[in-house]
Amino acid sequence: MDGVSKYFDAGNTVANYQLNLEVEDGEFLVILGPSGCGKTTALRLIAGLEQPSEGAIYFDDERVDGRSPSERNVAMVFQNYALYPHMTVAQNIGYPLKVRGVSPDDRDQKVATVTELLHIEDQVDKKPAALSGGQRQRVALARAIVREPSVFLLDEPLSNLDAKLRQEMRIELKRLQNELAITTVYVTHNQEEAMSMADTVVVMNRGTIQQIAPPQELYKRPRTAWVARFIGSPPMNLFRGTRRNGSIDLGEAGTVELPGKIDADEAVVETAGQDDASTASVVANSARDDVAVGVRPEDLTVSTTRPSSGNVIEGRVETVEPMGEYILLNVFVNDQIVNAKLSEWTVEKDERVYLTFDDDDAYLYDDGGELVA
Ligand code: ATP
Repeated sequence: MDGVSKYFDAGNTVANYQLNLEVEDGEFLVILGPSGCGKTTALRLIAGLEQPSEGAIYFDDERVDGRSPSERNVAMVFQNYALYPHMTVAQNIGYPLKVRGVSPDDRDQKVATVTELLHIEDQVDKKPAALSGGQRQRVALARAIVREPSVFLLDEPLSNLDAKLRQEMRIELKRLQNELAITTVYVTHNQEEAMSMADTVVVMNRGTIQQIAPPQELYKRPRTAWVARFIGSPPMNLFRGTRRNGSIDLGEAGTVELPGKIDADEAVVETAGQDDASTASVVANSARDDVAVGVRPEDLTVSTTRPSSGNVIEGRVETVEPMGEYILLNVFVNDQIVNAKLSEWTVEKDERVYLTFDDDDAYLYDDGGELVA
């Protein structure tokens, strides 16, 4: 996608804005974002179900926007996939081949291969009504795969399934995609799904791409404060602060030093100055001193006595929630709720606590929400 925008309602709704995105051959790419951020529209543009308002879409080096879906050889599976109720599983799967005029023998052969691949070979004579939700989902996938599309487009295909089945299908889909090495674009608002299946995740918000990165990098280096707050469960804590005399003043929560990070912030200003003097003065004179310090819940250490050194934030325990593999603390720091994960139950509600963290585990975001260091 090269500078692709899509507007609806005579330009009043911006569903996608200037998307630049490249999907490699055989890659499993996941578009992740909150409801209404433009994921489905992006997928429909790739499929040819919508045409871009601006920009171009290429498959390999060929420009495809303007072409119909059938000219693009894509297969799309939606959340509300429809199977023909009066046809058997085998007939449902073979239908796209029949439409194309593939001979019955070849059709049977292809249907047999794909049903085996999806472990539904013993269901082929049943009608859809006699199948479980997960089996129906597999039939829909089989019907898409049997066409041997060059691109596989999936829109929340697992959202109708219960948690256990979803987990199973995630593994199954990933295995299939690996085996078939088929270029796949998968849309979801579920970050676990995105993180577990994707080679690359595209995070979208309000029609724009926020970050494109492999799952681990997305978690380890969220490029904006928005992505930092979107990824992780619970997400990263962000403390608003002001840079003052080489440290960061977090108001009543305390003061932290973060020497390496503050230096990096200054370096950004200097580099800008070398390129363009006017940019430097704008940057230096703006609200550059307003920053946010981010720390993930698992990187906070909690103690009931004030540590004598390090980055210390003071708060009061609001709730203690046993989550099974960890204890989740909600701590009131000023008027902000901060999440911390503990391995053992060591504090109680209303207790005064001190949250500490290493410099290396902190993220510094500028007032525009961009990662500084
Ligand atoms: P969800 O996860 O809820 O499905 P999404 O991220 O897939 O959301 P889209 O369906 O792409 O989001 O919608 C993006 C924006 O474009 C929304 O504001 C939506 O209302 C608007 N939109 C989508 N399709 C149309 C249309 N055909 N006409 C008008 N507005 C539309």
